[in-house]
Amino acid sequence: MNLKGNPVSPGIAIGSLYIYKPFNPDVRECFSQPGMVEKNLKCFKGLKQAAENEMLDICVQLNDHPDKALIFNAHIKILHDPAINEEIEEGIAEENWRLDWAIEKVYSKYIRLLKKARDLIIRERADDLTDVKKRLLRILYKVDTCDLSVLSAPVIVAAHDLLPSDTATMDLEHVLAILTEVGGATSHSAIIARSGGIPAIVGITELLSQITPEQFAAVDATTGEIIINPDAEDVKRFEQAKEAFSRDFADTISYLSAPPITADGVHIDIGLNIASASEDEFRNEAYTDFVGLFRTEFLFMGKSQLPGEEEQFEAYKKVLISYAPRPVTLRTLDIGGDKTLACMELPKEENPFLGNRALRLCFSKPEIFRTQLRAAFRASIYGNLWLMLPMVGSMDDIRHAKEIIESVKAELTSQSLSYALNIKIGIMIEIPSIAVIADMTAAEVDFASIGTNDLCQYLTAVDRMNASIASYYQNFHPAMFRLMGYVIRTFNEQGKPISVCGEMGGDPLAAAVLIGLGMRKLSMGSASIAPVKRMLSRLTISKAVEAAERVQRLASSDDVKKYLKDFLI
Ligand code: PEP
Ligand code: MG
Repeated sequence: MNLKGNPVSPGIAIGSLYIYKPFNPDVRECFSQPGMVEKNLKCFKGLKQAAENEMLDICVQLNDHPDKALIFNAHIKILHDPAINEEIEEGIAEENWRLDWAIEKVYSKYIRLLKKARDLIIRERADDLTDVKKRLLRILYKVDTCDLSVLSAPVIVAAHDLLPSDTATMDLEHVLAILTEVGGATSHSAIIARSGGIPAIVGITELLSQITPEQFAAVDATTGEIIINPDAEDVKRFEQAKEAFSRDFADTISYLSAPPITADGVHIDIGLNIASASEDEFRNEAYTDFVGLFRTEFLFMGKSQLPGEEEQFEAYKKVLISYAPRPVTLRTLDIGGDKTLACMELPKEENPFLGNRALRLCFSKPEIFRTQLRAAFRASIYGNLWLMLPMVGSMDDIRHAKEIIESVKAELTSQSLSYALNIKIGIMIEIPSIAVIADMTAAEVDFASIGTNDLCQYLTAVDRMNASIASYYQNFHPAMFRLMGYVIRTFNEQGKPISVCGEMGGDPLAAAVLIGLGMRKLSMGSASIAPVKRMLSRLTISKAVEAAERVQRLASSDDVKKYLKDFLI
């Protein structure tokens, strides 16, 4: 069977499918018939044994990762916690609670208690209890295991959707490729796949209804082609394509350590986009000049409690120290849209990408914003901090944010807590209204970075997550280049640093045009560094300027892409 989707992270994979369906049980109050007590108690005992066996198996698989195995050993201890088990058994015996309700009620009580603890380490235990509770209920309901954080063998992950919180905890080492029914090229899951070099195809209609677990599949994420149960000839064809892709990859990767200069010797600053302080994300840091985007909201994902000031301070300090003296552009919380948090309930909105997102959310929850600013400023003495505000739509937004920043600084001073005096304050240019008034904006901020993912979403009025209208999401639309050209020119004229940190910064063709428009700072995910440097080694500024002038006069995105491929490659 052949399927087709939108390839968003290149690569080729052949392997078996792992269908990911997150398990989120909704357990309601429920009682057993009298006379069921013994049966329920026996069932609970068997359930605990089954959960323990499952976790012991995982520990064996995690032989090479003792740090991860420790987590499961801790979960086995929770499974045998006398206080929890006694309460569950009492509920079954004395109140006639049905087993699932007994587990839900007692575990949830302890989870709530732990979440209230002052000590962060105790608070984090709530996540462990939640995991154990879900495991027990999943086994009870006879639902297959589904967890992306520990995969025992290399698999192709297939899902309806992958949220950033799923990809943030995913066992990347064992993911051969990602296939989803929804999502766009700039959805955050696609961005993570790309920066980890994992082939990904999104927008595959009715994917899950056409596949079964462990089926064999061949995936070409350069063309968007997927074959379920490929025959020997298909496998041979995909293997050949994989070899060709690997050869090209080997050539590209040889540019990783090359100096980031154009063929006529102009230096382009290469920045790194990161979502965490993980080793994986830092792997190519030696080849970069700055962190152009630190998506701090990822630190908040997969947590049952908002990370407090100390936890954030430690995370920011770690990144600042690793990069010092190079600048780290720390973007303040950008929650909303496709980025939701388990630890923070957001009101349901008809249009979340146009709603209470990012800076707007920070304004409506000032205590969260202030905690992050305090942590970032305290960490600033360990490196070179540039603070960047997302989703800025007006001068009012900038001024309001600056007032809060000044008041946080005053508070730190009054508490004799130190922070660097030279922290630069900048904004993301991703809402057209702020791009159009770049002359005023540039005067108000220390720097800016163009977020092309959202700029395209808002300029072309296309939801970046909606696979069914992906063809309307045209980031090579001439309007994008005209608008970005104006912003770059204006910031350059006013002597204010301007960079790009959206996905176009890591796309060699788009990056060449941006250079022609005057951009000298490009920030990107780790996997884009080598391809962009290869492009630079073949580009002259005069050629880039010619391309930039031309694309602004072409009629459509397709015309622009075709022209650039012919002219630049
Ligand atoms: C962007 O919008 O281009 C950007 C870099 O921010 P994010 O993708 O996190 O919304
Ligand atoms: Mg954005």
